[in-house]
Amino acid sequence: MSNRRGLLIILSSPSGAGKSTLSRRLRDWDETIAFSVSATTRAPRPGEVDGQDYHFMTQAQFKQDVAAGEMLEHAHVFGNFYGSPRAPVQAAIDAGRDVLFDIDWQGAQQIRNSALGAHTLSIFLLPPSIRELHRRLETRGQDTPEVIAKRMEKSWDEISHWDGYDFVLINDNLDATEARLKTIIEATRLRRSQQPGLTAHVRALQTEFEEMQ
Ligand code: ADP
Ligand code: 5GP
Repeated sequence: MSNRRGLLIILSSPSGAGKSTLSRRLRDWDETIAFSVSATTRAPRPGEVDGQDYHFMTQAQFKQDVAAGEMLEHAHVFGNFYGSPRAPVQAAIDAGRDVLFDIDWQGAQQIRNSALGAHTLSIFLLPPSIRELHRRLETRGQDTPEVIAKRMEKSWDEISHWDGYDFVLINDNLDATEARLKTIIEATRLRRSQQPGLTAHVRALQTEFEEMQ
């Protein structure tokens, strides 16, 4: 057994607050962090690679996977289905690797309530202002004005779930948010529940202690 148990690190925010950017930075910082590639029924955006950004699939395929219990969580977001395939997550955490999720509040809630809930670290990103959120969606340049309007409309629904998370960060300065995320992850890795070898270590200390009496 690895001397550390993998964490399920969940990043949620309204669309445009910075999840993808920060998740890329975290994976560059620690390449052992696995990224949970979600399944989705939405169409790929320009530049998105199947199997890397998402597993793009039909509704029929998605529903079949959900029925077969192959999704750790799933939700309907912006008119499309999204879900986190279970098998790669289990394999990574069994090997002591953390897994990073970029998912919405519904997915975060389902994972928190699952058998893996005790090994979950959930972080919510808030934008500095709604005006700035809109500006970021526009400068990202990936969505049509209609899609941006839809995302903005939904942003309050996502923000209203901010208080279900372990940590909440206002993503104003990107470097500062990145530094805070790293601090949170490093501290949470030391949580008792993440260190399966502790009991054996304390037992060894006790034996040594008793031998010295
Ligand atoms: P999400 O994945 O949450 O939808 P992105 O990571 O795609 O959001 O970020 C949306 C846009 O905002 C991107 O163009 C990104 O470069 C920019 N961005 C992210 N964080 C910041 C920040 N702290 N300050 C300024 N721009 C940011
Ligand atoms: P986008 O279409 O911009 O990539 O993602 C739209 C929203 O769906 C984002 O809020 C994102 O976090 C969420 N999302 C992406 N993948 C999943 C997933 O597997 N499960 C859930 N519940 N939400 C997801």
